[in-house]
Amino acid sequence: MKIAIDGPAGAGKSSAAKEVARRLGYKYLDTGAMYRAITVKALAKNIDLQDEGELVALAKSCELEVKDDVEKGNLILLNGKDITEEIRQPHVNQVVSIVAASPGVRRELVHLQRKAALNSGNIVMEGRDIGTNVLTDADFKFYLSATVEERAKRRWLEMREKGIEISFNELREEISMRDRLDQEREDSPLCIASDACVIDTTPYSLAEVVDKILSIISGD
Ligand code: C5P
Repeated sequence: MKIAIDGPAGAGKSSAAKEVARRLGYKYLDTGAMYRAITVKALAKNIDLQDEGELVALAKSCELEVKDDVEKGNLILLNGKDITEEIRQPHVNQVVSIVAASPGVRRELVHLQRKAALNSGNIVMEGRDIGTNVLTDADFKFYLSATVEERAKRRWLEMREKGIEISFNELREEISMRDRLDQEREDSPLCIASDACVIDTTPYSLAEVVDKILSIISGD
């Protein structure tokens, strides 16, 4: 069974996908974390983020490992180094959509994502293009949305809990900018798959969203 969960930043994808996978005993893959990992490396190497050739060479040379973790969902290892925390830093948020717009980087990562789906049996995969591109044959496709205001609020609270200080307005701006870049890029932009079930999570708690998804999967 393959379950695709897509949607913009802060719509509740990660928390919901992680919990759905846990409840069903399925594998969980956060594909956004993979784009973030390449971004961390590109920033560390000072690569020009508009240089397609350099980005692709970098993506090809990176040894990216995604491990299961009961608490965090996924652990991200890049060339053997655990960068799970680093990929969530504000400076990564600001440029990850530029890196993710690179067709060559997407080709490399989509290949790994499809391989993970093949090897893992049952999987819940979340991202921006899972239902529309990576797993077009997924058994269930969900698209989670919420207002920008609500998404920024959730992210702000999340970051504050982690001790990361950022202004609410800045965060809302960054989320809107990422929405725009993700929706307007040429290669597999963020959009709703024609066969996806759309859930506006604005008024719901995480538990309610998870229940909705599970009840649709079980056919209740
Ligand atoms: O989900 P998350 O916010 O961690 O994703 C970070 C970025 O990675 C997104 O803003 C998007 O640019 C990119 N992404 C993507 N395709 C995916 C998952 C993430 O382009 N399947």
